Amino acid sequence: MGYRYVFGPVFSGRIGRSLGLDLLGRRVCSMDCVYCEVGKTDLLTGERDVYVPAAEILRELENWKQEGHQPPEFITLGGLGEPTLNSEMPEVIRGIKKLFPSMPVAVLTNATAMTDPEVRKELLEADVVLPSMDSLVASEFRAINRPCKGTDPTAIAKALIEFRKEFNGKIFLEVLLSRGYNDSDENLSLMKDFCSKLAPDRIDVVTLSRPGTLEKAGPVDSETLGRWKKVLDAAPCKDRDCGPDTGAKKRSGDETIAHVQGEGSHAFDRIQASIMRRPQTAQQLAGALDVPLERVEQVLAELEKSGKLHVRQTGNDIYYDCRLDGES
Ligand code: SF4
Repeated sequence: MGYRYVFGPVFSGRIGRSLGLDLLGRRVCSMDCVYCEVGKTDLLTGERDVYVPAAEILRELENWKQEGHQPPEFITLGGLGEPTLNSEMPEVIRGIKKLFPSMPVAVLTNATAMTDPEVRKELLEADVVLPSMDSLVASEFRAINRPCKGTDPTAIAKALIEFRKEFNGKIFLEVLLSRGYNDSDENLSLMKDFCSKLAPDRIDVVTLSRPGTLEKAGPVDSETLGRWKKVLDAAPCKDRDCGPDTGAKKRSGDETIAHVQGEGSHAFDRIQASIMRRPQTAQQLAGALDVPLERVEQVLAELEKSGKLHVRQTGNDIYYDCRLDGES
């Protein structure tokens, strides 16, 4: 069957092969990051709501289970926006645990909603929380993450430190650097202090490797990336190599690729679902989804005809992403 909310599995160096659940169904986020790979946020909001009912997501997941796929290593809440904005997130987590009792659940989050103690309480049910924090300098935070009104990076940092005290699972922090946006020494110094207080289980410092929403947002050079990694690695870490035994312990900016079993009649849906969430080249799609390159090119041509395909060139690579219905 075709899926709206279940996608992947996706391969991540941080958590291995993970099946994604999209809790928003469209681009609903409390931020509109300049580097966002799913494109410009359509609904910029900090309001929680039932953007997609938990029952619908779980129905799809149950179907996916019945199709008898190879089980992933994780089920990850993420997708087209900020998953914690879905007020039925706790029902989704509980439902996953019922369907897959031994499967760890991960949540990708920009952490803005974690200033709400209720959201922190709900996230205690997850096994791994992967927050991002790009800048603790308020002006940089506003420039790179373009958050909704009233979002304060210092309050988010405090909320994360509070969460660390209560949470028995693992926290994998990600810092994404963009040249001229958040690579200042002031930010590095604040982040160093924050990381030492948070003591995450793992810290990943990455830079842009795929097109984001703003052309002018570019990657930092390798010297800057290396310096940040060194300084933030120096922060106390509870267990740096604590990820599952995937053989991949560090995430580089472009190592997260979809990995989907099979081809056949599902290829169209899977390719479309994959590029709706992350721009990729035809070769990356073929390798990651285990679909012959010719079939990928056919699907891309079909999508182009329907006017949904968006093509961007970065260096020698041509990236494809897919517009949602109704977008121009
Ligand atoms: S990168 Fe994440 S937090 Fe930023 S706009 Fe995209 S979905 Fe939202």
